[in-house]
Amino acid sequence: MYYDKLRTEMVNDQLKTRGITNEYVIESFEKVKRELFVPENLKNMAYNDSPLPIGFKQTISQPYIVAIMTQLLNPEKENIVLEVGTGSGYQAAILSYLVKRIYSMERIRELRIEAQNNIKKHNIKNVFFIQGDGTIGASQYEPFDRIIVTAASPKVPQILVDQLSDNGIMIIPVGNINLQFLKKVEKKDGEIIITDYDACRFVPLIGKNGF
Ligand code: SAM
Repeated sequence: MYYDKLRTEMVNDQLKTRGITNEYVIESFEKVKRELFVPENLKNMAYNDSPLPIGFKQTISQPYIVAIMTQLLNPEKENIVLEVGTGSGYQAAILSYLVKRIYSMERIRELRIEAQNNIKKHNIKNVFFIQGDGTIGASQYEPFDRIIVTAASPKVPQILVDQLSDNGIMIIPVGNINLQFLKKVEKKDGEIIITDYDACRFVPLIGKNGF
């Protein structure tokens, strides 16, 4: 009950007032219990307007950032999605109600296992976990209708663009270690269109095509 109230307040005060208008995205935020994705000792901060540490120098992103990235991704019911950077599994849980299937990649084994447990608590069945370097994507499951990268990237990895289907959309924070901008990469009839959005600060993407 206590967390339900905090969740409603988060959706109203942090998302709706800042331009999150996609009703399906909002519904998904109303469903997912963020308190189940943060460490036990930080549960009372689960609905704070900030990222939180999840161990291994990694974070669960601020609710608004998860929301704006999800909205920019323009998820559709039949979409197959690649997420790079599973972290706590919260972003994957939000997407699980909006698309058909998600492949979520994480390089740190312990976080992948923890995220898998978190997702199980919600009885979500359409998120599949891959442990490995997401900067090279997951060619065994391509093409992806949507790709979401939730760690800071020095560039838009070409291999991820290659794994995007035609009419596909990728959202990725690109910049240096200290500051990035969310980029929307759209593939239309083989042509690539890139649009810049909000400034943000993510933990670094570490791997072959990352930092
Ligand atoms: N989406 C997550 C959530 O909802 O909790 C937050 C992601 S956290 C900001 C970034 C994650 O990306 C970290 O868990 C980190 O270990 C992971 N990461 C960094 N480089 C990676 C790579 N090359 N492949 C896969 N995961 C990576």
